[in-house]
Amino acid sequence: MSSAYPSTRPKILIAGGGLVGNTLALALAARGLAVTLVEPRTAAPDQCDPADTRHLALAEGSVLALQRLGVWPALAESAGAIRRVEVSRRGAPGQLRLDAAEHGFERFGAVVPAPLLLRALDQKVADCALIEVLTGVRVEYSEAGNQLRRVMLSDGSTREVALLVAADGTDSPLRTGAAIPARVHDYQQSLISCSIRSRRVMPGSAFERLDQDGPLALLPRPDGRMGLVWTMSSGDAQARMADADGAFCAAFQERFGYRLGRLSSPGRRSLWPLRLIYAEQLHADRLVLVGNAAQTIHPIGAQGFNLGLRDALALAQCQAGRDDPGEPAVLAHYESLRRPDREQTLAWTSQLLAMRPGHSLLGPAAGLGLALVDLLPGLQRALVERAMGMAVLPWLPEAA
Ligand SMILES: Cc1cc2nc3c(=O)[nH]c(=O)nc-3n(C[C@H](O)[C@H](O)[C@H](O)COP(=O)(O)OP(=O)(O)OC[C@H]3O[C@@H](n4cnc5c(N)ncnc54)[C@H](O)[C@@H]3O)c2cc1C
Repeated sequence: MSSAYPSTRPKILIAGGGLVGNTLALALAARGLAVTLVEPRTAAPDQCDPADTRHLALAEGSVLALQRLGVWPALAESAGAIRRVEVSRRGAPGQLRLDAAEHGFERFGAVVPAPLLLRALDQKVADCALIEVLTGVRVEYSEAGNQLRRVMLSDGSTREVALLVAADGTDSPLRTGAAIPARVHDYQQSLISCSIRSRRVMPGSAFERLDQDGPLALLPRPDGRMGLVWTMSSGDAQARMADADGAFCAAFQERFGYRLGRLSSPGRRSLWPLRLIYAEQLHADRLVLVGNAAQTIHPIGAQGFNLGLRDALALAQCQAGRDDPGEPAVLAHYESLRRPDREQTLAWTSQLLAMRPGHSLLGPAAGLGLALVDLLPGLQRALVERAMGMAVLPWLPEAA
């Protein structure tokens, strides 16, 4: 199909160079496609944001994809392997223990600090000849034209592309601008993240505790510290952010228990209000949604980036053999590829949230559920496969 844009310019423009936009740019480049990536951040690719203290749990499938995209070598040393997972409910019976070795795997996945992952992606993108990166610039507005989308940038320039990808995050101005409907729910909860020291070190073990106020987790790091995740009502979270270190540790310990001995020396804390945003469709005329712009889900199941990475791989997969990256059939194919994974991950996240003690829907049955999964190998296997995210990987770049 002939195109109405200059052939010297990339046909695809990605709005948003966060974790998913960057991953998509690399996945498209791995298919030999040139892209323009527009990102308002101005930080140099070798800088990390010290205010982002999140630890992201990556499914093994995502680790494999990052390996194939050439990003993993920059992360491997800072990654904490997840070899064992223990899920419990505070003040209630029933516990689930999963061990990767018992299922024939080396690990379920790995934990990486979010700013290190972003830096590794930024650097890889900056080194890629097929990716034109515009930093310090945002997409202001876009409109559909004749077989193209016209994109207005904040530097006053205009681009005409065959496909505009909205990787512009939870509040996605592009999703709103295209009038794509989305389900929205404010959990009235916030999450505090930081690192912490535990007296007892259990390398490779991740712990999740379902508390009435929200889930808590301690995630493995390779340096003997752990990544702390603590969800609670937004009002309580504001107060906890202001706590002195000792009071913060004591309050967390009261909920988490002494499984890892005394907890101390918390690092810098960051606060994350939690919302659900779930786009009811993934494309409009020559515009497509990926990552948090498509779905922002509760981090209880540690699935947000894992899902967004699979969005990126699926969109790259759909470009096989296509001259026009934004033609309706390509975007419809992408939407149909992503539907089952998105729906199942959202349902799984809701089930985990419903397992909190005191939740009106499941109550004591939740403890029974955990115990049953613990006892029944078939259920365990299904859970392991979901957590590892291998079966749902849409496509992988060739090994280098
Ligand atoms: C506390 C917490 C813990 C989490 N833990 C996990 C976990 O363990 N595992 C996991 O898989 N996921 C986890 N997630 C989810 C994960 O962090 C997100 O799903 C992921 O970061 C989404 O990346 P994104 O690129 O889609 O969005 P973002 O990271 O929000 O990036 C959007 C980008 O778009 C840019 N932008 C905005 N507007 C414009 C515009 N107009 N033009 C151009 N660019 C624009 C922004 O500058 C930004 O860089 C967690 C999330 C939170 C909050």
